[in-house]
Amino acid sequence: MAQKRKADIVVAIEDEDDLLQITPLGAGQEVGRSCIVLRYKGKTVMLDCGLHPAYEGENSLPFIDEVDPASVDVLLVTHFHVDHAAAVPYYIEKTAFKGRTFMTHPTKAIFKWLVADYVRVTNNASSGALYDQRDMDNAYGKIEAIDIHQQIDVDGIKFTAYNAGHVLGAAMYVIEIAGVKVLYTGDYSREEDRHLMAAENPHVPVDVLITESTYGVQSHEPRVEREARFTSAVRDIVKRGGRCLMPVFALGRTQELLLILEEYWQRHARELEGIPIYFASPLASRCMTFYETYLLMMNQRIQTQARETGSNPFKFKHISNLKNLGGFDDASACVMVASPGMLQSGLSRELFDRWAPDRRNGLLITGYSVEGTLARTIMNEPDEVMTLAGQRIPRRMSVSYVSFSAHVDYTQNSSFVDEIRAPHVILVHGEQNAMLRLRSALTDKYAGSDYAIHLHTPRNTETVQLHFRGEKMARVIGALARKVPGDGDRAAGILVQRDYKYTLVDVADLADVSAIEQVVVEQHQIVPCRASLALLLHHLERMFGVLTLTTIKSESDVTTVLRAYDSVNITHSTAKPFVEIEWEGSAMSDMVADSVVAVVLNIECSPASVKMTRTSCAHAHDDGLRVDVKSSVADRLVPFMKHQFSSVRMAEGRKIEVELNELRATVDAETLEVQTESDVLRARLASVIGSVSRTLRPLHHHSDPLPVEPEHDDENEVKPEDTKDDDEAKNEADPASEDDVKIENVKMEDSATPKSEQVVAETTAPSEVDDETDL
Ligand SMILES: [Zn+2]
Ligand SMILES: [Zn+2]
Repeated sequence: MAQKRKADIVVAIEDEDDLLQITPLGAGQEVGRSCIVLRYKGKTVMLDCGLHPAYEGENSLPFIDEVDPASVDVLLVTHFHVDHAAAVPYYIEKTAFKGRTFMTHPTKAIFKWLVADYVRVTNNASSGALYDQRDMDNAYGKIEAIDIHQQIDVDGIKFTAYNAGHVLGAAMYVIEIAGVKVLYTGDYSREEDRHLMAAENPHVPVDVLITESTYGVQSHEPRVEREARFTSAVRDIVKRGGRCLMPVFALGRTQELLLILEEYWQRHARELEGIPIYFASPLASRCMTFYETYLLMMNQRIQTQARETGSNPFKFKHISNLKNLGGFDDASACVMVASPGMLQSGLSRELFDRWAPDRRNGLLITGYSVEGTLARTIMNEPDEVMTLAGQRIPRRMSVSYVSFSAHVDYTQNSSFVDEIRAPHVILVHGEQNAMLRLRSALTDKYAGSDYAIHLHTPRNTETVQLHFRGEKMARVIGALARKVPGDGDRAAGILVQRDYKYTLVDVADLADVSAIEQVVVEQHQIVPCRASLALLLHHLERMFGVLTLTTIKSESDVTTVLRAYDSVNITHSTAKPFVEIEWEGSAMSDMVADSVVAVVLNIECSPASVKMTRTSCAHAHDDGLRVDVKSSVADRLVPFMKHQFSSVRMAEGRKIEVELNELRATVDAETLEVQTESDVLRARLASVIGSVSRTLRPLHHHSDPLPVEPEHDDENEVKPEDTKDDDEAKNEADPASEDDVKIENVKMEDSATPKSEQVVAETTAPSEVDDETDL
């Protein structure tokens, strides 16, 4: 895996948006009601939205008021467990949340039934139900199901789900916003069991890892030993004639237990004959359907088993389903796998209350029990317990605990942290002690190593703030990338931004690399002009240096296309009293075209024209306006200004007087100094003079020195030398120096260079240009 390239420059964080904020609204130093909010670059992602099994009503909700639900863009749900998903219908239907909700296909399918079960239980309970079946149905329609490894992009929030093990359909998520990647494990297991594959390493560089810490620094006993302990505990209870009660969550780990029991009963058929196993849950029969449907999301082992036997491995021979206790004949020893898992209420609680006083019976806890639930308190083996009906009864049944909850233990969790190597690790989903022990174990493990791990254990509503650099990296592609840049080189092109990714391209490549369409505005202008081609060329070349010429002759007329500055075409026709000016609209070409128009319009009254044509002009000329380097300033500025201001005129002492809406200003034609009492007008003039200067200066620089005044009066045709280099061409560009008459497809070699030279001059050598004060 390629390392991310980090720039050497550290940019100070000033922008709040550069702060990644991670806030647990639930599961902060606790287990239950998982809900973690990420905020970065104006995007908000909520990870899980569960309920706390030990609390009721609104108390079981995460602290969702801490973050405006309307600001949450995306809600990602890792798996169907109550502590991760049960508040989702509430959040979608009862708050201002308007974002999109995602979960994997099996999670969505199973979630529907589990929540229905939750609604049935809570709507019967005395405490206020958070939502009803209708809310659930409405919410369900808004949840989007995704596949593992599917890449989703919601307006710049990119995420991908990965296998998490744990339960059917459980996902971890890698979330990427503006190049910052966060991996949220949800509940995960790295151990393959009878039916699920282990959690995957996503193999992407991750900036922040948010991991569960349920088991802290504990280690699970090896799977084979654990299963042996489990089956012998069950066997011991039933062999002494007792009932073995296993409170379980209807779906998830239970299916793994059932697979183990089925296999054990199969192998010890004679010894255990006549001892029934029940799976008691309102959802019992549905479970089989789910597990059949999503067989392909399980591991190879179970898929092979299904293929080889040709039957559904979850269709059990020794286990019967009980929807309720109505038809249950409670006469002798049996194994009862019953929901719910923490003995809060329902079938498992009813049976517990009934069986607790008999010492032959046994309680086998197999899952993680949340603090505050009976399943948790019973592990301390109290002598007396309270029934759901509020009656004190003795507890004589045995209590044992074999963990089958598929959470990582210390070994799995720390090796995963080691593989991911995220600079920041945030622990969630763990009780305070377990979490803090894990934190110090990991701190000790990496002390003095080359892995600079930063561990965070925020409480609920406490925000971890992480700074990410505000600098932006752009990929340079296409024509711009052909040349390997040297030190200090600058690349200029169009910066295309898509979802926080930047690409720098040459404008010509734009269509190939993006969906951006390049629109070209073709400009076409007709300007009255009766000047000869020679005269026109003379004036234009004074301004633009050498032009490209193309001539087309017909019987009645000679048409010549002059190309100025490689961007503007000026078409002169001997038969027409006007010239046509055409160009593709762009800031630069528009300025050049403006200046062409100004030149053409001024041909007639220019002293050079007078001299060339040897005909008197009808109007008077300012005495000071001799054509030399200095005087050209005003010549060129005034026409531009006339487009911008109501009145512009040349006054005594080479001052240009400008008027705009009764505001007056004087511009010194030599120094370009502006004198006015109006700040508005001053600013406006500065801007006009600035833009004119920028356009004309390099052009002028290039064509300097200006051609000497023409000696000849032949105004019809010109034949420039077609092989001269630029300097020669300029010096000899006496447009009327030849008597001959033809111009045919003459192309001056250097005509395209002024453009690039001008750009270079402007960007890399400003001082050199500034010395050019002749504008
Ligand atoms: Zn879980
Ligand atoms: Zn959980």
